[in-house]
Amino acid sequence: MTSVSDSRAASLPLVDPFGRTVSYLRVSVTDRCDFRCVYCMSEDMNFLPKQDLLTLEELDRLCSAFVARGVRKLRITGGEPLVRRDIMKLFRSLSRHLVAGSLEELTLTTNGSQLARFAPELADCGVKRVNVSIDTLDPDKFKKVTRWGDLGKVLAGIDAAQAAGLSVKLNAVALKGVNDDEVESMIEWAHGRGMDLTFIEVMPLGDIEPSRFDQYWPLSQLRARLMDRFTLEDIDYRTGGPARYIRIRETGGRLGFITPLTHNFCESCNRVRVTCTGTLYMCLGQEDAADLRTPLRASKDDAPLLAAVEAAIARKPKGHDFIIDRTTSRPAVGRHMSVTGG
Ligand code: SAM
Ligand code: SF4
Repeated sequence: MTSVSDSRAASLPLVDPFGRTVSYLRVSVTDRCDFRCVYCMSEDMNFLPKQDLLTLEELDRLCSAFVARGVRKLRITGGEPLVRRDIMKLFRSLSRHLVAGSLEELTLTTNGSQLARFAPELADCGVKRVNVSIDTLDPDKFKKVTRWGDLGKVLAGIDAAQAAGLSVKLNAVALKGVNDDEVESMIEWAHGRGMDLTFIEVMPLGDIEPSRFDQYWPLSQLRARLMDRFTLEDIDYRTGGPARYIRIRETGGRLGFITPLTHNFCESCNRVRVTCTGTLYMCLGQEDAADLRTPLRASKDDAPLLAAVEAAIARKPKGHDFIIDRTTSRPAVGRHMSVTGG
């Protein structure tokens, strides 16, 4: 029997030992992808067997349990979320929380390859913003970075998203020797189309063929370079994610920096991540995790699931300790970004 104090606990927000309220859940719905970005995956990846994945119904139940415990923002990611079969069913069912007002934002991070097909339906499900990853505007370089990607399709996806009324934010990983010669033109292009652009430092996740040290371009250096060309103005804009923003006076647009390596962004972390197998990671940069699939499947009642979530949040670490240097060739954590999602 559920007591009054149990039912009150079932609606309390999730607060970690450092007083940070967990209000943001990122859910990776697949580890598969139609690209093989060089910093994210190796060319021949082994993917999870389909039976290990949570079904769309289970993903819905899991997300809904977090929403019931105060999560206000859900980001669907992957792998490439739009290659998961019938993924629109999940967006459609989760949209009921937007309608009910219990969820503020339902959004996704995508490589854009399937966006032309899905943008109108996403907008219809109440999605207002999408993050599209695009590291270069040069078609040949794009092919090299993504191995399998087609820049034209991604650009068509961005067009479709804007035409459907979605606000588009671009993410680009800062890559030495790849896009370091075009950051200014990427900024001008993005801002000219009314899109925020955020640069991300390469994070040491998962074994890949190229050396991280070769790819790593600290954003402190990128920022210094931009000051030769632009006026960078500090602004007090936050999206609830880890990016810090400035405004470029010349374009009037916003530029974000995600700097896990040069700036520790953990003190205000409000996020946790669930993988497509129902593993909860309390920190992107640590190995500790909790299995939510077993309690989810053990009972139709959410009580065991919520108990597992609470026990996990009570272990959320203070922060990560990524380093990339010549002596550290091993990744900080063994799993690829496509497992936990960006
Ligand atoms: N496939 C989707 C996409 O590319 O947007 C969603 C998943 S992807 C793993 C999410 C984000 O993580 C992308 O913006 C990608 O560039 C970024 N990413 C992947 N591996 C990374 C790494 N090792 N360091 C930094 N960012 C990484
Ligand atoms: Fe796929 Fe995104 Fe990883 Fe690129 S970054 S391989 S698009 S999951």
